[in-house]
Amino acid sequence: MPELLPRARASQESIFARMSRLAARYGAVNLGQGFPSDAPPAFLLEAARGAVGRLDQYAPPSGLPALRDAIGADLGVDGADVVVTSGATEALNVLALSLYGPREDGTGDEVLMLEPVFDVYVPQARLAGATPVTVALRLDPGPGGGWRLDLGALRGAVTPRTRALLLNTPHNPTGAVFTRAELEEVVALAREHDLWIVSDEVYDELYFGAPPVALRTLAPERTFTVGSAGKRLEATGWRVGWIACPPGSGGRLAGQIAGIRQQGSFCAPTPLQAAVAAALPVARAGGFYAGLRQEYAGRMALLAGGLEALGVAVYRPGGTYFLTAHLGAAAPDAGRLVESGGVAAIPLEAFAQAHAAPPGLVRLAFCKSRADIALALERLSAVLAAT
Ligand code: GLN
Repeated sequence: MPELLPRARASQESIFARMSRLAARYGAVNLGQGFPSDAPPAFLLEAARGAVGRLDQYAPPSGLPALRDAIGADLGVDGADVVVTSGATEALNVLALSLYGPREDGTGDEVLMLEPVFDVYVPQARLAGATPVTVALRLDPGPGGGWRLDLGALRGAVTPRTRALLLNTPHNPTGAVFTRAELEEVVALAREHDLWIVSDEVYDELYFGAPPVALRTLAPERTFTVGSAGKRLEATGWRVGWIACPPGSGGRLAGQIAGIRQQGSFCAPTPLQAAVAAALPVARAGGFYAGLRQEYAGRMALLAGGLEALGVAVYRPGGTYFLTAHLGAAAPDAGRLVESGGVAAIPLEAFAQAHAAPPGLVRLAFCKSRADIALALERLSAVLAAT
């Protein structure tokens, strides 16, 4: 039998899939993979029920026109500049394939990304033939501390081969929300070196302080925005995401991106696209996102306060539904924690690339039920008491 290619042999199970698998196997509370315990809103589910059995055939690869228009209206862009994808993961992969790749001299375009780095960014860049270059966020310890953008390091990492900046704000896994001033500096850097910006904004509606600034509003001419109906509407398994391209091409960029996108899953599921198209304006007008923020702020306070009462250092997020916490260097690693401690967490080392993460530093999801969060705290209390 022939061998798979080295890149296939080198591929690894996603840390999120792995921790969910282990959580199920050991009956652990799953604060690992970021998916909510709550059901999606009724207005979304009803719209889907009305679409299945009616809209069951292919949609255009660029997406159902009604959904492109609904996304455009929500983001303040033209629907002709929007491409619908099978989740944000595919959106990011399509952009990797469209924006950066191998160079004629045998090297790859360099793509700057922030570390801790969301798990798919590095492998997607490599599969596209590009070279990922990570720039570490600074972790200021102590009360009021947190994760900060290191603009000097970002500037220092640009080379003549740099082609794009790929960042997420709110940032997964740290929950950091970058300020307007920081993003203005990022934009200045991108303009100076004529770089694309890929802005992963799947948590754009999940913030606890100042709302995140959309990079496309600062640099429309070079920013591709990635978004996710799964994150917005609590239906991560639906796999409906999007790309908003820079405006002004009369839809040419979106058409070309859709040309790459059709080589993957061809189109996202048609009835689910129709349901999201109906739900986006309802969510916006009905205050759904504000309700979500309020609910998750409460659960974040429950988890963060509970951890702090156990003596754990917590870095409270400005956005996302994750927080990072330092369980202590003596705490069991994530493998032992899920197996014998009854709690699944994502170790920050899973997001490390060029800069080692301190042992005991974990990402915990609080998009889980209050009962699950309370149970996780009880179990963590027992685990930490034993260290
Ligand atoms: N975005 C989710 C997280 O960070 C997981 C994404 C996935 O598992 N594909 O947990």
